[in-house]
Amino acid sequence: MVRFTVLASGSKGNSTIVSGGRTRILVDAGLSCRELFRRMKLAEEDPGTLDAIVITHEHQDHVNGLAVTARRLGIPVYFTEATHRAWMRWLTPRRQMTYKQWLELCRKQAAEREAEPEAASLEAASEQGDPEEVEVESVAELSPAPDPAPAGLSNLALTNPPTMKEDPTWLPAVEYFRAGEPFSIGDIALSPFTIPHDAADPVGFVLCAEGIRMGFATDLGYIPPNVKEQLRALDLLLLESNHDLEMLRDGPYPWSVKQRVLSRVGHLSNDATAEFLSTAYDGQAAYVILAHLSENNNLPELAKVAAERALLGRASLLANRLLLAEQHQPLSAIRF
Ligand SMILES: [Zn+2]
Ligand SMILES: [Zn+2]
Repeated sequence: MVRFTVLASGSKGNSTIVSGGRTRILVDAGLSCRELFRRMKLAEEDPGTLDAIVITHEHQDHVNGLAVTARRLGIPVYFTEATHRAWMRWLTPRRQMTYKQWLELCRKQAAEREAEPEAASLEAASEQGDPEEVEVESVAELSPAPDPAPAGLSNLALTNPPTMKEDPTWLPAVEYFRAGEPFSIGDIALSPFTIPHDAADPVGFVLCAEGIRMGFATDLGYIPPNVKEQLRALDLLLLESNHDLEMLRDGPYPWSVKQRVLSRVGHLSNDATAEFLSTAYDGQAAYVILAHLSENNNLPELAKVAAERALLGRASLLANRLLLAEQHQPLSAIRF
């Protein structure tokens, strides 16, 4: 059976579990590990059965709990190389300091380690993230995995992993993929494609398992021809419907942030999504899930009405069951 469970969607964290055959993968890990596990429990998904984590891009709302979750489960993480590098840069504070300042910092860190080994907090390098985002998971939560390596993963270097403080970028295993080059994780085939977004190398996916095709496209400023091409003949389409244009224009964000969200490398508006659904979309998916809704600049009702109106003109409307992914609770699992 194929199962598609959105654990969270929105600018405060994104994560979805896709299961097919004997394989389960987590697409993005944008909530803290603790919260991810809590949501999996709510959705009746067992974290211990996950085989891998796949990352779309390095913005905080997609990677916030990545290191801790991968370490705790002892599973590999799939990135593009540029995304992996950007993620590592984000976790490695870049500071210029004099030798004297450096010595002082070392002394301070040593004293902190003695006083309270796990209590420091990770510094957030906010310029790497989406503007409307979560704080970085604290190092207290990022303590090394207490669990032993699961059986069958003996090839992973889990014997003596560094602590988060020693190396916050350490992962049990890293695998690279490239946009445009399909690959497989167990029984799930993934076709990554480039999306226009202001990250190092952002991708969407078409995932296929047991003949079921699931399209995945959030965090994109517009829908270019290559993405339209990919989002065809799907059984399930998860598509961003980020903001209502008027709410964004009149909303609380500074002008620079509004400009960024509206730009060709920002996020899809309800109108842009509706435009796609009413024109380029082939109307074949059994489920259409609207995702990455902004809490500040959108209302679920507005996104829903815009998409419904767009789908009305489609011949196979009945097939397109419209759902809205939520920020604060998992969506019921969709089964095929
Ligand atoms: Zn993003
Ligand atoms: Zn995002």
